[in-house]
Formats: sequence, C-alpha cells, structure tokens
Amino acid sequence: MPELIPLISQQEIKEKIREIGQNITRDYKGLDLVVVGVLKGAFVFLADLVRQISIDHEIDLLGASSYEGTSSTGQIVFTKRPDLELKGRDVLLVEDIVDTGRTLAKTVESMQLLNPRSIKICALIDKTERREAQINVDYSCFCIDGGFIVGYGLDYNEKYRNLPAIFNLKL
Ligand code: 5GP
Ligand code: MG
Ligand code: MG
Repeated sequence: MPELIPLISQQEIKEKIREIGQNITRDYKGLDLVVVGVLKGAFVFLADLVRQISIDHEIDLLGASSYEGTSSTGQIVFTKRPDLELKGRDVLLVEDIVDTGRTLAKTVESMQLLNPRSIKICALIDKTERREAQINVDYSCFCIDGGFIVGYGLDYNEKYRNLPAIFNLKL
C-alpha cells in the first residue's frame, strides 16, 4: 500500500490562498483579468483562489495533460481550449504544480498565440529540483524541493485528488 505523509495542512493552504488572493486583487486593479485554470489538477485550488480575489474577473479552463504515474511522458496534450476571448486581456494561468516546467512552457506558448495583453502564472506548488524550462512563477503558494505529492486536486493515477490537504506519496 502507498504511504501518505502529511506535508501541508488545510489551514496552511487556506491562509496562503487568502494572502495570494489579496496580492492578485491588488496587482490586477483596473485590468481585465481572466483566470484560466489548468485541468485537471488545478480545479480545487482554482475554486478556493477565485473566492479570495475580490475584483471582477472572468474564469475559464484549459485542459493540459502530461503525466502518467509519477514520471512525465514528455508529451503534452491539450484536451480543452479556453472558451472566452483572451485577445487583449490579462490572463492569469492557474496551475497545480510546476515541476520540470515543460507543461507550463508549452501552455504559455499556446496561450500567446491568442494574443492576450499579459500572461502571468499562479501555482499552488513550485517544485524546483527538476526545473528544465525557463519560466517564472509569478505567484506561488508553496515551494518544495522534490518528492511526489498528492491531495487538494493533485493525483496519483487519478486517485487522491479529493484529499483536503497535501501529502507526500511514498510508493
Ligand atoms: P511539468 O511539465 O512541470 O514537469 O509537470 C507538470 C505537471 O505534472 C503538473 O501539472 C502535474 O499534473 C504533474 N506533476 C508534477 N509533479 C507532480 C507531483 O509531485 N505530484 C502530482 N500529483 N503531479 C505532479
Ligand atoms: Mg497541472
Ligand atoms: Mg496528474
């Protein structure tokens, strides 16, 4: 049986999201914010984050998938494109976790083709150890070196997304 070791509590997540939401609210005053969540992993984070952003904004979803098990397949497949017009608007991409950064680099590249005015990145977890792509995470809630984590939207083979806190998975 895989072992789940507690890493970040529900309370810590809640407090950090409140702070990040306030920062986003401050930084996007007067701008045309569209928050774009990257499926599937970001769905729980997205739902909590947008409720801490207190300026008017729109929400969309993008489907990007790159992983099977605990190692990247190296292939990124877009399973859903945003529905809203993003041209000339201020896009904030919301990701669950940035690891090598390849998914995000590809995602930003494909979003740029839609000609938004700006693109910034907000990630729940910034996992730095295996970073390959040159990308800047503008808003990150938690920074970790490595390991494989699950819970709060993050899966291992589609399981554990429902856990309300974040755990290290030991196989
Ligand atoms: P990257 O392209 O940055 O290497 O991988 C990003 C994607 O891989 C994330 O959006 C996530 O789906 C998956 N991923 C990377 N590290 C982890 C991890 O520690 N736990 C889980 N559950 N998924 C991860
Ligand atoms: Mg993701
Ligand atoms: Mg996954």
